[in-house]
Amino acid sequence: MSQIPDLDIDLLRSLCLTPGAPGSETLVRELVLDQIKDYVDHVETDPLGNLVAIKKGRNPGKVLVAAHMDEISFIITHIDPDGFAKFHTLGGFDPKTLTSQRVIVHGKEDVLGVIGSKPIHLMSPEERQKAPKLKDYFIDFGMSADRVKALVQIGDKVTRERDLVELGDCVSTKSLDNRISVFILIETLKRMATPAVDFYAVFTVQEEVGLRGATTVTRKINPDFGFGLDTTIANDLPGSSEAEYITKLGGGAAVKIMDSSVITDSRMVRFMEDVAKRNKIPTQREILTGGGTDTAAIQRSGDGAIVGCVSIPTRHIHSVVEMCHKGDIDHAISLLQHCLEELDQFSHDWA
Ligand SMILES: [Zn+2]
Repeated sequence: MSQIPDLDIDLLRSLCLTPGAPGSETLVRELVLDQIKDYVDHVETDPLGNLVAIKKGRNPGKVLVAAHMDEISFIITHIDPDGFAKFHTLGGFDPKTLTSQRVIVHGKEDVLGVIGSKPIHLMSPEERQKAPKLKDYFIDFGMSADRVKALVQIGDKVTRERDLVELGDCVSTKSLDNRISVFILIETLKRMATPAVDFYAVFTVQEEVGLRGATTVTRKINPDFGFGLDTTIANDLPGSSEAEYITKLGGGAAVKIMDSSVITDSRMVRFMEDVAKRNKIPTQREILTGGGTDTAAIQRSGDGAIVGCVSIPTRHIHSVVEMCHKGDIDHAISLLQHCLEELDQFSHDWA
């Protein structure tokens, strides 16, 4: 039995519970800045809101590592005369995951609401057979329409309300996608020695709506190397065959081979696996045929970069009970740390 690492769960909880809808990442950015400022040589926020921290390296060259700060969220589109709100999604939701959820509307002040839909008692036999749709849901604030309208308006962002719990060897809450990677990038900065080349730790915005922050920030920095840092699917669950797992929870940090937005550089995959082997870090390969990450934006922006991606196996992804394994989290930190420290050993030779 391998040991379960001692992680800063209080910091992870704060990161996951701090709201950060796409385009509204300020509170997460402030929390990150407070954590990293003593561990970097320079830090700045760019016009889109990306937080860029630089740690000087031993050699010339630049490596960019991106972890997105935003979380899948909603935006208020309408408030009806009775004070119920309709909303649109920011990021990819399965509508069935909205049933019975509590949400926080970030209006003039934070307002708690619950997501309601038609009770099963009132559904026709045909309705009961159908998968729920986004339009079936609304937010109920439990207050008069006048009070709702004084606090909430069209365009207000909405995040999900859920505490973090530790269960078994795992943690579970909302927004582990991608605060787990924000956590890993912070911890890497805290643990690491001098990087091989200049290390740009970038906490990006608006990934969930199309890799928007990573695209502009990479164009500006124009790095030689890049790493994405994001969750991936662990489908090691009842009803799935091993061929359908993508990754296995507790199986180690995942080295991305491809997702639907990127084919990582085969030289970087080789380098990451060599580093893992040298440092006895368990890894598994990840091939995800749907979904994209900031890795794609890093690869394609500016002059293009040699990219890899450390993925964190996550069960129940894009729900409020996302689950990651503490061992995988620790291995992801170690893998990233050693890749950054040993990047001067990267070989440009194609296999
Ligand atoms: Zn993500």
